[in-house]
Amino acid sequence: MIRITDILEEAQKYMTDSELEAIEKAYIFSASVHQGQVRLSGEPYLNHPLEVAGILVSMKLDVATIITGLLHDTVEDTLTTIDQIESTFGKDVAFLVDGLTKISRIVFASRLEQQADYFRKMILAMSSDIRILMVRLADRLHNMRTLEYHRPERKIFIARETLEVYAALATRLGINWIKTELEDLAFKHLDPEAYNDLIERVAMKKAEREYYTEEIRDIIQQKIHEFGLEGTVKGRAKHFYSIYKKMREQHLNFDEVYDLTAFRIILDSDKEKECYEALSVVHALWKPVPGRFKDYIAMPKANNYRSLHTTVIGPYGERVEIQIRTSEMDEWAEYGIAAHWRYKEGDVSSLEEDRQIQQLRELLESQKEYKDAREFMKNLKLALYPDEVYVFTPRGDVKSFPKGATPIDFAYSIHTDVGHSCVGAKVNRNIVSLKYQLKNGDTVEILTHHGHKPSTDWLKYAVTSRAVSKIKQWIKTEERERSISLGRDIIERELKKRRISLNRFVKEPALKELIESQSLGDVDDLLAQIGYGKTSAQYVINNVYEGGTKESREAEKDKEGFFEKIKGHLTKTSHAGISVRGIDDVLVRFAKCCCPLPGDEIVGYITRGRGVTVHLASCPQVQSMDPERIIEVRWEVDKGQTYPVNIKINCIDKKGLLAELSNVISKLGINVSHADVSTFPDERATFEFRLSVNDLAQYKRLVSELKKLNNVLSVERQREPVLEKTDGSLLS
Ligand code: MN
Repeated sequence: MIRITDILEEAQKYMTDSELEAIEKAYIFSASVHQGQVRLSGEPYLNHPLEVAGILVSMKLDVATIITGLLHDTVEDTLTTIDQIESTFGKDVAFLVDGLTKISRIVFASRLEQQADYFRKMILAMSSDIRILMVRLADRLHNMRTLEYHRPERKIFIARETLEVYAALATRLGINWIKTELEDLAFKHLDPEAYNDLIERVAMKKAEREYYTEEIRDIIQQKIHEFGLEGTVKGRAKHFYSIYKKMREQHLNFDEVYDLTAFRIILDSDKEKECYEALSVVHALWKPVPGRFKDYIAMPKANNYRSLHTTVIGPYGERVEIQIRTSEMDEWAEYGIAAHWRYKEGDVSSLEEDRQIQQLRELLESQKEYKDAREFMKNLKLALYPDEVYVFTPRGDVKSFPKGATPIDFAYSIHTDVGHSCVGAKVNRNIVSLKYQLKNGDTVEILTHHGHKPSTDWLKYAVTSRAVSKIKQWIKTEERERSISLGRDIIERELKKRRISLNRFVKEPALKELIESQSLGDVDDLLAQIGYGKTSAQYVINNVYEGGTKESREAEKDKEGFFEKIKGHLTKTSHAGISVRGIDDVLVRFAKCCCPLPGDEIVGYITRGRGVTVHLASCPQVQSMDPERIIEVRWEVDKGQTYPVNIKINCIDKKGLLAELSNVISKLGINVSHADVSTFPDERATFEFRLSVNDLAQYKRLVSELKKLNNVLSVERQREPVLEKTDGSLLS
């Protein structure tokens, strides 16, 4: 059992007096808040944070990390608050403890989310400071060392999680000694039989192996010395889990696993060159096994591990695994990323400085030592912070969102009403705008205001499909309300001409019949139809009061019939390409005066009884229209959709010119629906085409291709319809 004095003794080797005092203070604090709590083993709870701090101090981590080790369970398991930690131990420690508390509070909503990969990514994503991970790993290591007190199912669960998540994390961070210990402990609980069997077998051959190890070590040591290289050779038994894995993966019996020991040459010099020299010494001594040489110096592993690996045939015909590296590379291999936070002597002056700045500097410094450290961190971040962000509700539940998500997405993920009435958010207790992009580990609280309404602007900031569809739905409902009131205006104006009040009109029994005959629900539906322009006010009024006069009835019928006839056509050719402020089922057509193409700036005009007409924003007709009826419309083009455009090509009249022109047009995959030629006495000709193009870009491509032709003088887009005479259709 470790005591605070042991920790202080270790810490004293690399810390100042004031730092030691701070650790003692944290110990007293932890002891007082954990007082009376016991672990499953029956020992006082305080032993756990002490052990965790002991692991951290053995890695020579900084004072804030050691203090965090002592305090890591205080907020989660006692009445202590983060504010209390902050006022007693400062921002840095409070930040670390807060991070650990968040990780320990992760609530898994579904089985799917329990997948190791998700879990690992999330923990990494949330550890905005790598020291949080260090404490978490130390915490898990001690829990694994004392796992036997748990119920069997719980033991299996924790052991599996340790293997899949925490050992993998340690590997990723390059902390080899924690990784191997976690793996062996997990192995022990997951397959006790195989574990005990292996231990026994390894022990049986212990003396034999020790003798062998010493022999090989001496040979290597002597050889490299002969060649003028200074360094130490270590022979180490491989950890149990790696032997077990090898036996399983290669279907070997224990007796078939020869290389229970791995050798390591650690060179005193920090020159890479010497590693390669040592390698050739080894290869001259024993024959290398082909295909087993790995150069992790030239190509470091993703966690920045650097070393040479080789396997040779040893003096007894056995395989011998040998790793060769400098002491600097070895420190990285054992401590991994923790090496960045190891205490550096003579660094006292910066102790007063902001922790964050110091970390950054250390990272930059170490970049010199590990030349790919920066790259490593970048890769680490990329892998750890993929396309999701993980944030917290004020209750500590985790929610994941696609990157770029805003408080709007968060609000709609809680409830539609929360989304609709969202006015802002507090992120980590600070007010942010709705545009704020959520970051990993943010705690998000949505501010709502009763009666507040979504705006179209929100569609720019929402990224989740849930939020987008809820906002669109709301806009659609609201648009319907607008259409109803527009329809009411229109019909009221018509009724006024006949001195009828709207109140009286809506009570007419004939109106009810009309509504039923058109399979509409109520008066509002009918008003909306008028507002959308699907039916006209005159038609409705005529129908109600005269049963429709004969002429008007016929006229309407004609119009209606015609309308029905073109409606299918309209929907096919034009409707799908335009969205009118969230309304789905409004009738849309293109003005024949200007033939807009996708890419053109456009506006919509609400016509009486004929839906919305789309004009070029620059169309002269628009200038003379009732501005109140002009509405915003957007292109929403489906692939393959085509639009009519009229062009006029002025050319010098040459034989075969038409063939040339149509060749260019058809090469671009454009259809011609009408062509007209006029020739003039001065050897000039004008071709007028009506074409179906996809969009403005395709049209522009065509124009530039046409202009390349020798005899083409100019190409104009016709604003006036060329085909007025053909069918007189509304579509022009
Ligand atoms: Mn703990």
